[in-house]
Amino acid sequence: MKVMRKIIEIDEEKCDGCGNCVPSCAEGAIRIIDGKAKVVADKYCDGLGACLGDCPQGALALVEREADEFDEEAVEEMLKAQGAEEKSAPVGGCPSAAIKTFPMAGPGLAGGKEIASGGPSALGHWPVQIRLVPAGAPFLRGADLLIAADCVPVAYPSFHADFLKGKAVMIGCPKFDDAQAYVDKLADVFAESGIKSVTTVVMEVPCCSGMAGIIKKALEKSGMDIPFKEVTVSARGEILS
Ligand code: SF4
Ligand code: SF4
Repeated sequence: MKVMRKIIEIDEEKCDGCGNCVPSCAEGAIRIIDGKAKVVADKYCDGLGACLGDCPQGALALVEREADEFDEEAVEEMLKAQGAEEKSAPVGGCPSAAIKTFPMAGPGLAGGKEIASGGPSALGHWPVQIRLVPAGAPFLRGADLLIAADCVPVAYPSFHADFLKGKAVMIGCPKFDDAQAYVDKLADVFAESGIKSVTTVVMEVPCCSGMAGIIKKALEKSGMDIPFKEVTVSARGEILS
């Protein structure tokens, strides 16, 4: 039923799609779609304005207009469905999909445990597979993102120190995995997470260069202008370009 009530309004001219407002809405009413924040449905917005202070562009305002009534049950159902989707998209409740974050390790950074002669781990989160990382994962917010082909950490001995340190990471194989699913997932990541830069590291073999094409398509789909760099390594662990 439509009623006169307060509801959030998003000025698309001002919105740059940074995604800050998405986590600030506990109701899940806002999503980034095609690079702009959108209210998914009026019934999900409670009109209390919890998101207002989180928009650096001043694109959010509360207005009074005729809208569907706020529907708390619908919000609960939607959030439950979202949670189930995130749990099931990866391999059906497998613990490897549970998000974990670790203190950033590495020389000069606290939290690293010397566990091998190669030095402490620079990995700051889990999961890492492109398919397992939710687009809205907290560790992606405002991150410099490293997208590595699966074989790179095996072939390149100083992967943690040279590439991973200080970055969020996602890995996948452009040869064996579903390229379109990667384009869609990465486009959502770029649109939702305020990624500062993207670096991809791939192997010298021609099929691995497909990763750059996937990322370029995802950037195009997201509409985001994010600095992008590609590095190629050899099977003997040298940086080729
Ligand atoms: S916080 Fe970012 S994504 Fe949300 S409305 Fe403001 S500019 Fe747009
Ligand atoms: S494309 Fe080939 S080299 Fe690249 S990650 Fe996949 S299997 Fe490894």
